[in-house]
Amino acid sequence: MIPVRGLSGAKVAVLGLGRSGLSAARALAEGQSTPICWDDNPEARARAEAEGFACLDLKKHGAFDDIARLIVSPGIPHLYPAPNPVVAAALAAGVPVDNDIGLFFQSFATQEWSAFDTTPRVIAVTGSNGKSTTSALIHHIMESAGRPCQLAGNIGRGVLDIDTPHDGEIVVLELSSYQTDLARSLTPDVAVFTNLTPDHLDRHAGMGGYFAAKRRLFAEGGPDRAVIGVDENEGLYLAGQLSEGASDDRVIRVSVQGKLSGPGWCVFARKGFLVEQRKGRQVASIDLRNVSGLPGAHNHQNACAAYAASRAVGVAPKVIEAAFHSFAGLPHRSQLIGEHDGIRFVNDSKATNVDSAAKALAAFDNIRWICGGLQKEGGLEAVNAAAAKVRKAYVIGREAANFAMQLDVDAQVCGTMQAAVEAAVSDAEAGDVVLLAPAAASFDQYDSFERRGEDFAAAVARHIKSAQQ
Ligand code: ADP
Repeated sequence: MIPVRGLSGAKVAVLGLGRSGLSAARALAEGQSTPICWDDNPEARARAEAEGFACLDLKKHGAFDDIARLIVSPGIPHLYPAPNPVVAAALAAGVPVDNDIGLFFQSFATQEWSAFDTTPRVIAVTGSNGKSTTSALIHHIMESAGRPCQLAGNIGRGVLDIDTPHDGEIVVLELSSYQTDLARSLTPDVAVFTNLTPDHLDRHAGMGGYFAAKRRLFAEGGPDRAVIGVDENEGLYLAGQLSEGASDDRVIRVSVQGKLSGPGWCVFARKGFLVEQRKGRQVASIDLRNVSGLPGAHNHQNACAAYAASRAVGVAPKVIEAAFHSFAGLPHRSQLIGEHDGIRFVNDSKATNVDSAAKALAAFDNIRWICGGLQKEGGLEAVNAAAAKVRKAYVIGREAANFAMQLDVDAQVCGTMQAAVEAAVSDAEAGDVVLLAPAAASFDQYDSFERRGEDFAAAVARHIKSAQQ
């Protein structure tokens, strides 16, 4: 645990008692401040009280009279679509509003630095897509390089739950826009921006607010190195804003859409090869085409971003290349879960919207596509446009017939995962890929996308076992 520093003896209000709220309360108590907790859900309050934390309705008049700071959970919308009444009361009383990420940076930076030969460093990753994959890949590269490393934030542990860092340790944080939006202190050593596509627009009052929330990671603390995906206008703008000129190598530009050039530092992927260039010269090149844990252009973008961040902390290209090959991929994201009779089975249950499903479809050939579920707004146009390599779709979900009708490819209504896997394997030939990339949420049939992916993996395992008998 990282005890919170700089608030000792103060009362600190904690709003929202999920994983990050409770962890903030514990870290505050460890740092000798007194957390005053609140959650509208009585069960969450009971959990906090069971740990000995005081709960007080922060909506009550005068609740902020002697409070030094308000810590808000990332799941609570604070300003849009409507201001949260507790946050508004704190601001009206002049109380600063923060979150666990702000507490982390405030406390991490004031450790006993004289005890270290090599000071611990933080690599923070944000962006619309690929955050988890990029963060996990950086962590894997560090482990492969023999560097002490911890993974936290949106993935892994809560930021304040990590162990006190060792000498030379790298802490990799995955940060969502909800987290970067409110943190008062954001001082990573290396910051990564993967890409930007519209998401969570309600919560940020549009694309401008969404970009502004992510941009804070780069603008607030001024990282030593910024790794920026420049394939969208926002990334290009951000990279330009952070650098003094074309040769300023504090910014490492990343692209999967074309060759980058110039006197600066850049990493790009083209025709399946990752290339690093610095001062106009090629430094390294890696063949990504046979890296099984990172299939498709979207994963090549993640590979470039993780490569650049790892180079920024001094890892050699050949160590990174070896780590790419031993990276298994994250569960439920273009994850190869089995192979039988020349047929590969890939789980991308995390493709809960049409954009991420389109990326998954672009990554494979000869696809037997398992899709469907709780459809999101906006129709299936983007996924139909990406379905050229689909041989046939096998549709699951309560509204499977309706979903199938909207597809431009040959589609069979299956309903359940088991039926879809059976139908797909009975049609499949060697060289085909049976791909779960639903382009829909899971909640009509499952509790979460993870359960859906596990159900797919179980059906595939049953098929392979019975085929082997
Ligand atoms: P995040 O943590 O940002 O949600 P993940 O790594 O968990 O990102 O991937 C989420 C979904 O987006 C998966 O379906 C995955 O296949 C897809 N995806 C992963 N990386 C990218 C990328 N760089 N660009 C677009 N889509 C991606």
